[in-house]
Amino acid sequence: MTPRQRNFWAWGWADRFPDDDARRALAARAGAALGGGDLALGALPRLDDARVPEPRVSVPTELSAFASADRFERVTHTYGRAYRDVLRGYRGDFSAAPDVVLRPRDEAEIVRAIRWCEQENVALVPFGGGTSVVGGVEATSGDRYRGVASLDLGAFDRVLEIDAKSRAAKIQAGARGPVLEEQLAPHGLSLRFYPQSFEHATLGGWIATRAGGHFATRLTHIDDLVESIRMVTPRGVIESRRLPASGAGPSPDRALLGSEGILGIITEAWVRVQARPRWRSSASVFFDDLPAAANAARAVVQSGEFPANCRALDAREAMMNGVPTDGGAVLVLGFESADRDTASSMANALSVGLASGGRCPNGAKHRDAGERGGDPSAETWREAFLGAPYLQSALVTLGVIADTFETGCTWDRFDELHAAVLEATTEAMQRCCGAGFVTCRLTHVYPDGVAPYFTFVAPARQGGELEQWGEIKRAASDALLAHGGTITHHHAVGRMHRPWYDRQRPELFAEALRAMKRTLDPHGIMNPGVLVDP
Ligand SMILES: Cc1cc2nc3c(=O)[nH]c(=O)nc-3n(C[C@H](O)[C@H](O)[C@H](O)COP(=O)(O)OP(=O)(O)OC[C@H]3O[C@@H](n4cnc5c(N)ncnc54)[C@H](O)[C@@H]3O)c2cc1C
Repeated sequence: MTPRQRNFWAWGWADRFPDDDARRALAARAGAALGGGDLALGALPRLDDARVPEPRVSVPTELSAFASADRFERVTHTYGRAYRDVLRGYRGDFSAAPDVVLRPRDEAEIVRAIRWCEQENVALVPFGGGTSVVGGVEATSGDRYRGVASLDLGAFDRVLEIDAKSRAAKIQAGARGPVLEEQLAPHGLSLRFYPQSFEHATLGGWIATRAGGHFATRLTHIDDLVESIRMVTPRGVIESRRLPASGAGPSPDRALLGSEGILGIITEAWVRVQARPRWRSSASVFFDDLPAAANAARAVVQSGEFPANCRALDAREAMMNGVPTDGGAVLVLGFESADRDTASSMANALSVGLASGGRCPNGAKHRDAGERGGDPSAETWREAFLGAPYLQSALVTLGVIADTFETGCTWDRFDELHAAVLEATTEAMQRCCGAGFVTCRLTHVYPDGVAPYFTFVAPARQGGELEQWGEIKRAASDALLAHGGTITHHHAVGRMHRPWYDRQRPELFAEALRAMKRTLDPHGIMNPGVLVDP
């Protein structure tokens, strides 16, 4: 049986890319939303037409057992899956292709790969699932390096050990979401970390980027699930001690989480796992607008209830995802538990939501293990959530710019930030595209703040897409920083967010990070250009 293939230029599996009928339906919807007629379907790219430069370095004999300069390998390791990656892939532009793709099978082979890169002055880019949306896996090495090697962790895909008593598991870094869940399931356990990229992203990628997952409150980032990390650096192995918590000085895990491949290669980690939930409750509460729904979400978490799902969608975001509302915004609440009925937590959260001015005409739905059918808004939301990245790639073929960005801010800044970002993004789209709209949802909620997530959609000018996108992205990112937000709550920094990250982080901290990189990576080969300059 031939293995299922990833799409070489777009999101996801090649066999799940929307067919022409689906693209026509999308063209009609997107055209109407942008105030024009139906959009034309662009031809889909062919792998044979991809423009890939000749490799600058050849596959070394000492690595030949796990190195390749195969064209498909190089193409599929060129980009992540940001809008600009998908666009360049669609246009057949693979000029940033790595020269070599390495697929080590154990740590000894990783060490050999590092030594070769150091000797030959080749930049080394760790590659997990390649779902980065910030240019994290695309090394444009310039003149400083002789070439670029992409190091794919795909062979590191096993759950190695389970400590049922401490409810933790040792998992290899290259395990993709479904692969690790499949291995945990027979033990009745689950990581329950479901970012939208779950199907293709890896544990190592999540740790390297401090990804944000399923839980909208409390255990929001992978940070909260990590117990210890093992990393192979050019100077040797760092492995932190497995502990539930520790006050012994600065935490080594904290230094490695979010290191985005610049310090070394994460090979495995002990993570906290959960018992599979048995009880679930869900409900939708309607509000006039997003700020009102945000107020209610804040009141819920400040009341001491921490729903697993606490996502607020503005009216347009709800409409785009087919989530039912009564015309305004919706707050989707969900509780889950392995050991207790969630009905009373839901009742508390609902009463807070209603006291904050919400309307809940359908009440809450409760489910026990194995039962299907929860709240319709929550169900529709989940389906739309997983299908959306395919549609986002398909929009590129219709001449539409569609991208997302996210942030985090304290509650005292939220209303101002939300209004300012909508205004700046809309104004930039009007200026460079002549039309466009932006929507917002809240992905994660804290007692002291919130993570707003924005989606913008605008008509592209053929050949000018990257400039148009760049202008919108700049306006939005400037507004985030000017109004108290971070350049990213969970998408990471990569190469794309560097200009804003450089403004946001304290300069002395950057100096300390550069010193740490010099210590662990003295030849400066590890993912150059990400987070700090080598
Ligand atoms: C459609 C879509 C939806 C997304 N949804 C979410 C979401 O819900 N939440 C979220 O947080 N993010 C999301 N992302 C962003 C992306 O999935 C995350 O950043 C994810 O953590 C990347 O994992 P990966 O395995 O694909 O890593 P890659 O993209 O391969 O790499 C990301 C970065 O980590 C480094 N890296 C990867 N593996 C290792 C390793 N083992 N050791 C050291 N460095 C490594 C790479 O060099 C790179 O800098 C989404 C992206 C897409 C395209």
